[in-house]
Amino acid sequence: MDSKQFREAAISSIDDIVKYYDTIEDRRVVSNVEPGYLRKILPEEAPQTGEAWADIQKDLEAKIVPGLTHWQSPNFLAWFPSSSSFPAMLGEMYSTAFTGAAFNWICSPAVTELETIVMDWLAKAFALPPCYLSTGPTNGGGVIHGTASEAIATVLVAARDKYLREATAHLTGGNEEEEEAREDAWAERRGRLVALGSAATHSATKKAAQIAGVRFRAVPVHAADGYRMTGAELRRVILELRARGLEPFYLTATLGTTDTCAVDDMEGIASVLAELSPPGGPDGEVWVHVDAAYAGAALICPEYQHLAEAFDKFHSYNTNLHKWLLVNFDCSAVWVRDRRHLTEALSVSLAILRNPHTDSGLVTDYRDWQIPFGRRFRSLKVWFVLRAYGVDGLRAHVRKHIKHAEVFAGLLKTRPDLFEIVTGPRFALTVFKLAGDGKEGSTVEEQNALTKTMYDAVVEDGRIFLSSTVVGGVFAIRHNPATPFVEEHHVRKHFEILVEVAEKVLFKA
Ligand code: PLP
Repeated sequence: MDSKQFREAAISSIDDIVKYYDTIEDRRVVSNVEPGYLRKILPEEAPQTGEAWADIQKDLEAKIVPGLTHWQSPNFLAWFPSSSSFPAMLGEMYSTAFTGAAFNWICSPAVTELETIVMDWLAKAFALPPCYLSTGPTNGGGVIHGTASEAIATVLVAARDKYLREATAHLTGGNEEEEEAREDAWAERRGRLVALGSAATHSATKKAAQIAGVRFRAVPVHAADGYRMTGAELRRVILELRARGLEPFYLTATLGTTDTCAVDDMEGIASVLAELSPPGGPDGEVWVHVDAAYAGAALICPEYQHLAEAFDKFHSYNTNLHKWLLVNFDCSAVWVRDRRHLTEALSVSLAILRNPHTDSGLVTDYRDWQIPFGRRFRSLKVWFVLRAYGVDGLRAHVRKHIKHAEVFAGLLKTRPDLFEIVTGPRFALTVFKLAGDGKEGSTVEEQNALTKTMYDAVVEDGRIFLSSTVVGGVFAIRHNPATPFVEEHHVRKHFEILVEVAEKVLFKA
């Protein structure tokens, strides 16, 4: 494809994409192809000779689109959104056009410098404490990773190395023998390390612990506390682990848990850790990472910014701009209070990487802030979104969804014979179940089976797509209308569909 052909193909593709977005609502939201459908309709081998773009494009609609679930549809209410916007798509297009591996500053100075700037802009827009700014008092700063899971695995490794380095610092006398003793102590203590999260923490933390070769322990959460981790439960678990000779070194606190959008008790956590693991104390400091993968977007609105007040006592923070903030996948914004902990754990030095800029110490080489070596130009789409919408536009976007969820929850309450809210609405997420089966004294299992029957019927119906969960033993349905194109009339329609299906299930109408 030469540049003339590219221009024609690109114009035709943009037309296609615009049509897709303009008509997205008319498509069945969740794909209903059979597993293996694509192998049956694509050739066994790659084509021997190149094909015309028009032929390739035709196959996109005929063969690929039927196998898509339409995440940008206003009828997509499942999990958390993976939001999209036209400015971010343009950012992706330019980023691809300028493609490079960008591991060092000199690979493309603009890639690094724009990232540092937009991360500072965002930290200020979210009212994060100044310790997370690249120009702040503690050597902090932000970096863009692909996903929250990657962010959590990265900070957990930094936390592990910081903890072990501090725990074995007294053994580093500089001679070979002491160095070996330190390595032995490091290896021995590593076997006692425990990473903590709550029982409602996303599985990303458990996976990160597996990757880092440390244990994971969940702090219980309870319905009475709204499924949030409390300082009291954290205290109990830390003391119990220490009594067993184990060493808690890391905690994921969540702002907006995956099941119910609960917010852990940040002040309670901070005060328990100030008591049990102060910096420089005999038991070592517990690194606290706040995972706000979805709900962190709400901090763009001043009415939610008080939630970040305790973060200056913590060590790192992430939010996925690709979930609720109009930046296309993938884009997880991560901030650390002291970037040296990342670079001490993750820096690599190879002869091939040496350059005067890195040697000068005046530039950031983001390869040392992440697991992969090469990196994408993700900050471009963030810059486009921030400039095209402005902070006010992003606030309006978040507030619109919060309002829609309030309307939806209000509608559920008009039918107490059909529905019962389990939690919410919190950050535009409402978790609900069927009100019951009309029988006196039906068990939780019977009620769960009924809600599940209704849930399966809604998915089968195909007009809307929601996800389900189990909260405190209760099978429940999650409604999250935070995709970009949802309007209030859509939310009212979702409710009507749910009523129709629920009545069928409950009253066999
Ligand atoms: N943390 C929370 C609170 C989440 O809800 C999710 C996913 O929904 C994740 C982490 C994992 O996100 P990612 O796919 O970016 O790794």
